[in-house]
Amino acid sequence: MNRLFTLLPPDSVSMVSDLVSSFDNLTISIVSPRKRKLGDYCKQLSGTHRITLNENLPPYAMLIVLVHELAHLKTRLIHGKNVTSHGKEWKAIYSNMLKEFIYKNIFPQNIAQDVMLHAQKPCACFPKTLDKLRQE
Ligand SMILES: [Zn+2]
Repeated sequence: MNRLFTLLPPDSVSMVSDLVSSFDNLTISIVSPRKRKLGDYCKQLSGTHRITLNENLPPYAMLIVLVHELAHLKTRLIHGKNVTSHGKEWKAIYSNMLKEFIYKNIFPQNIAQDVMLHAQKPCACFPKTLDKLRQE
């Protein structure tokens, strides 16, 4: 987990730490970059939850992708398996989780508005308006 904290925006670390520790049996792994995805969530046969994140994500992108995956975990805990992965249940949860970070002014002013627009109308993909965050 410590590796993750070094890859996030410094201001977000204590919030992320609280959020992550609110989930039981969760492992977060930083992995070699994959072309087709930035991160993912799965519940393993053992019952543990696993999130992977591409190691080359810049800090604010890392945070957004992490929140995206944590929203999958929370959706799974609340709604079980019988909802679509990016359906309205996930959207509502993701939106609320992301807004917490916006309200705490974790995102710099020049991107906060785009992050807010994304939080208000969540999509499965990394938002086009925030693509600049992905360029290192
Ligand atoms: Zn997803």
